[in-house]
Amino acid sequence: MLATLEHRTDLDAKELAYRSELTEKILRLKKEHNATILVHNYQRDEIQDIADVSGDSLALAREATQVKADVIVFCGVHFMAETAAILNPSKKVLLPVKESGCPMADMVTVEKLQRVKLDYPEAAVVSYVNSSAAVKAESDICCTSSNAIDVVKALKEEQVIFVPDQNLGRYVAQNTDKKIILWKGFCATHHRLHASEVLRCKENYPGAEVLVHPECREEVIAIADAVCSTKAMFNHVENSAAKSFIICTEEGIIYNLKKAYPDRQYHVPSEHLICANMKLTTLGWVLRSLQNMQYEVTVEEPIRDQARIALERMLAI
Ligand code: 13P
Ligand code: SF4
Repeated sequence: MLATLEHRTDLDAKELAYRSELTEKILRLKKEHNATILVHNYQRDEIQDIADVSGDSLALAREATQVKADVIVFCGVHFMAETAAILNPSKKVLLPVKESGCPMADMVTVEKLQRVKLDYPEAAVVSYVNSSAAVKAESDICCTSSNAIDVVKALKEEQVIFVPDQNLGRYVAQNTDKKIILWKGFCATHHRLHASEVLRCKENYPGAEVLVHPECREEVIAIADAVCSTKAMFNHVENSAAKSFIICTEEGIIYNLKKAYPDRQYHVPSEHLICANMKLTTLGWVLRSLQNMQYEVTVEEPIRDQARIALERMLAI
């Protein structure tokens, strides 16, 4: 059995043999191509097991600027790979599954944003990284769920057009003095969670702390013990005296939470907290990605340069 899978005592022999075979091939090709594998916290457990680095959107964007390898295999969704390609254009960035997009990122288009900008000429445009390169290029600065409040507070403008997530935008509005013009976008995975489901889970686990991603509805954020990006959830668990947690975000994160803090308990308030796009990436697709150098994500000028400015402004905060 591969050293990377030694901890998988939960898998049956057949599954373990299958994963070992694919993982071995992936590791061999990774070395041959001088590649590194970046993995978002929502990816499948089998993908977490082959990660060189796992993290949230911000940590992975920062990591992409530091990568020494020639190839980045980005196991996440399209905007994440695109961000890596913008920030580090000398690397070949591969997205193993072409179709793994983020539906929320598609809820804002350049044309619509340009029209709204005309209505609010004084406003700064803050785009959540869950957006296309073209939308980033049309923005003053980007943000992620872990730095959105700091990014907005740092702006000199009093008015902010915040795209595309209405829930994150509302959360920022409640935690800054700025006037936020909300976009109507949302993440279906987080938006479908209701406070009633979280409260029911709390009844079952009375001592558990409620950790909520800011893409959740306002009513869910209102009952949170902590509002956290996926990475901040790890920090919160590490520093908390609580023994159990209700995790209000995509369920993939629980695998790594258990790995990092096995003495704690994690509960899901709903069985629907699954992002189908994040789950498209499998070991088979990562292997094909390295075998065929597919699917390369590139961003053309002048969009790349303009989007890079908005991203680098964010990274500087
Ligand atoms: P994080 O930045 O917290 O990793 O979130 C990314 C995302 O897509 C949330 O749905
Ligand atoms: Fe997009 Fe939501 Fe999936 Fe994150 S969880 S990638 S915001 S659809």
